[in-house]
Amino acid sequence: MAKGKMIYTFEEGDGKNKMLLGGKGANLCEMTQIGLNVPPGFVITTEACLAFLENNRLPDGVWEDVKKQMAALEKKTGKGFGSADNPLLVSVRSGSAMSMPGMMDTILNLGLNETSLQGLIKQTGNERFAWDAYRRFIQLFAKIALNIPDEPFDEKMKEVKTAYHARQDVDLKADQLKELAEAFLAIVHRHSGKPFPQDPFEQLDIAIKAVFRSWNGKRAVDYRKQFKITPDQASGTAVNIVTMVFGNMGNDSGTGVGFTRNPGTGENLIYGEYLVNAQGEDVVAGIRTPKPIAEMAQEMPEIYDQLIQLHNRLESHYKEVQDFEFTIEKGILYCLQTRNGKMNARGMVRSSVEMCNEGFITKEQALLRIHPSILEQLLVPQLAPNFKGNSLAQGLPASPGAASGHIVFDADTAEARGRSGEKIILVREETKPEDIHGFFHARGILTSRGGKTSHAAVVARGMGKACVSGCEAIHIDDFARKATIGDMTLHEGDVITIDGGTGHVYAGEVPTVEPEVSEELTTLLTWADQAARLEVRANADTPGDAVKARAFGAKGIGLCRTERMFNSTDRLPIVQEMILAETLEERQAALDRLLPIQRNDFKGIFKAMKGLPVTVRLLDPPMHEFLPTAAQLEMEITHLRHLRDTIKGIEELPETLKLLNPGLYQKYADGLGRLNDAMTTFKESHLEEDVIVKKEKTLRKVRSLAEVNPMLGHRGVRLGITFPEIYSMQIQAVLEAAALCAKEGIEVYPEIMVPQVATVEELMRIHSYVKRIHKIVVLTHGIDVQYKFGSMLEVVRACMRAGRMAEDAEFFSFGTNDLTQATFSFSREDAENKFLPAYNETGILQDNPFEVLDIKGVGEVMKIAVERGRATRPDLKIGICGEHGGHPESIAFCHEIGLNYVSCSGPRVPIARLAAAQAQLKGVTAKGANA
Ligand code: ADP
Ligand code: MG
Ligand code: MG
Repeated sequence: MAKGKMIYTFEEGDGKNKMLLGGKGANLCEMTQIGLNVPPGFVITTEACLAFLENNRLPDGVWEDVKKQMAALEKKTGKGFGSADNPLLVSVRSGSAMSMPGMMDTILNLGLNETSLQGLIKQTGNERFAWDAYRRFIQLFAKIALNIPDEPFDEKMKEVKTAYHARQDVDLKADQLKELAEAFLAIVHRHSGKPFPQDPFEQLDIAIKAVFRSWNGKRAVDYRKQFKITPDQASGTAVNIVTMVFGNMGNDSGTGVGFTRNPGTGENLIYGEYLVNAQGEDVVAGIRTPKPIAEMAQEMPEIYDQLIQLHNRLESHYKEVQDFEFTIEKGILYCLQTRNGKMNARGMVRSSVEMCNEGFITKEQALLRIHPSILEQLLVPQLAPNFKGNSLAQGLPASPGAASGHIVFDADTAEARGRSGEKIILVREETKPEDIHGFFHARGILTSRGGKTSHAAVVARGMGKACVSGCEAIHIDDFARKATIGDMTLHEGDVITIDGGTGHVYAGEVPTVEPEVSEELTTLLTWADQAARLEVRANADTPGDAVKARAFGAKGIGLCRTERMFNSTDRLPIVQEMILAETLEERQAALDRLLPIQRNDFKGIFKAMKGLPVTVRLLDPPMHEFLPTAAQLEMEITHLRHLRDTIKGIEELPETLKLLNPGLYQKYADGLGRLNDAMTTFKESHLEEDVIVKKEKTLRKVRSLAEVNPMLGHRGVRLGITFPEIYSMQIQAVLEAAALCAKEGIEVYPEIMVPQVATVEELMRIHSYVKRIHKIVVLTHGIDVQYKFGSMLEVVRACMRAGRMAEDAEFFSFGTNDLTQATFSFSREDAENKFLPAYNETGILQDNPFEVLDIKGVGEVMKIAVERGRATRPDLKIGICGEHGGHPESIAFCHEIGLNYVSCSGPRVPIARLAAAQAQLKGVTAKGANA
């Protein structure tokens, strides 16, 4: 298109150039050029708009061109602008590159005046219709172009209706509408100080400028701010001048809007509404109730046929579901607008698969059509779509999905009541690792403190459970076992519903719809797997999670965290015993009891994942995470001491009394004796001899384990080096479980992974344990289990030493949560609670690097590690198991740097599978998170 040209007819405009012509204009051009029935017209470009807004006058030559185009329109339609016989009327419509529905202005029926009105009556033989069109035009034009509010017009309308006992507008007769129109003209004169412009070109000039100005109207500006529409996405509005067609010319006319397929289900049936004998605005205004398009097949079969043809041609051309507007004038269908239809996840998936099967699009196009993250809607329960209740409070949407259940305030109760089959929502101020057993038995988690990366949020996401975090409006009173939100009190056992997708909390049970992996989704994901190079594994810590992950299509487990198993109620006491052990023997005794339990856990997971690899990470968190906090212990000890002293006082009471007042003592000796017995019984059942001593010992241990900086402290492989017996037990459990499974004929691919490795020496040391234990297992079980040994890469030094690490490791797995902390030197909790929001607001960082992988920094470290590792061992398997592994943009980057797999939480596996396919199909350079 020629540079500087500011007006294009629908026959000329480039349908791809939405920046210049706006979405509406570009599609009007495109539809005209592929032969669809669009009323003739032309587009004034967004460049003209910007120039106009800057100088407050139309750019040179534009007005002359408009006049030329109007003359051409007159010729094409055989009508005259302002004609008294056969008048040409037009609409003046806004439309920018991004759809901003209803935010800018459109004027219909422009060109009507005293003269052309007579022409319209002659042309249509319908006086009532003509006056109706005129009074509508006057009001709309006055409002948009002359800034006269609706009120005086609406009042006048009311007055006239009352005078003629008309209930609705449609009850008014021609001469009554004429009276109304004349009154409207007077209103315009009064408000603007000038008569209503009768010259159609003056009307057109005013209207074009008004539509241009609506780009900077408050509504439009607010909308762009709200939806973050930037100037490089849309700048200025185009103006579309379109010959009017009339849907209100009788019963062979009408108007409507439609989707080429059902946007909610994807079903291939035109979906929409229409009104017979009506103009476009009537459908939207809701004055009359439109009919579903399905009825048109009976009511207007010929039109319906035209509509089917329009549907087919739109789809075969755009290769996308279309959302279109149409008008029928005397039996002829015109298309007035089309754009890609916005659909929900279900609709997208079904229409993608079906459009591919119907031959409209290729598999690749089907895969590329859908943004992976919308699949989340299909993978977790959702609130019933027709539910419209008010929420009690709103927290952060921390883990998607909707869940209802009885409130409980602690993990033990959640476990007990959950076990007995009750639906439970665990409500706490915040959660800690020792609450984990409560998570297993709850359907959802609600916390009053903590962000989207708090313990509750991270664990709930990992388990695919709904979670709302940081819901500050809720005040929890643990002791009284109740919570308040405003003046509402919730007691333990009351039912609430949480929506982890929006953060809303509702009273009572809100109906939900369960996720369904539809046949279409299964098909689509099978195509994705065929297209993708990256494999998708899941993070899963229990056999139950492993089964679910497999159902979501995981090709193995990329991260099995052994500490999750340590935290369940039946093991935690043994783990604590191990930690509190004073001697190696004591510790070994506890480990000996843990061994069969861990072995069983691994067997369960290997069975669930038979035929697929399972990466087991050796113990990672610092030991104190398995013990209560010092503050907790101090409180308990104080409480117990107080109790002990009180009891002692009561026990000594008889002796004291005997000494001070023998008479009184004599009188109550009996009662005092019984009181003493009661105390003894109480002590026996509640205050064991050494309970305080035990707690004091634990407290000493907790204090000795306290670290200034636990994230950088005694954890990961450092534990394995200082307590070789712990890692040895775990390695033995893994290899024996594998041997036992293999004996049962189950194919197992165990991979042992060491966390927090910084030096080659550390890795070699642990490797030597593995080799030694493997030999023993081979001897004792008589079977040579195959395994892989590898390292997590989550310490910067390890990434730098990757070349040498790869001599010892057969695989690497990037732990990007820790690697991000290490690369930025940000401790995550502190960063997110204290300064990251300010960093994001001031633009120092674009994103939260713990959510969006920082490609330029952390990604660079990863790239170096991949290159160095592969230089040593070309077939080195490399994956990622941080939370980033489930995010589409990060997955694209992992693909680009040549990783073999990504591992993410179970419910995100389908999202990752689609993202992996798209990464391959696009072959794009992913955009970095941060500058
Ligand atoms: P919006 O962007 O708010 O949808 P439009 O420019 O699409 O505004 O116009 C609003 C209504 O007017 C639509 O229902 C459309 O179909 C109708 N309309 C616009 N131009 C014409 C025309 N030339 N003939 C008949 N109806 C029209
Ligand atoms: Mg429209
Ligand atoms: Mg880590």
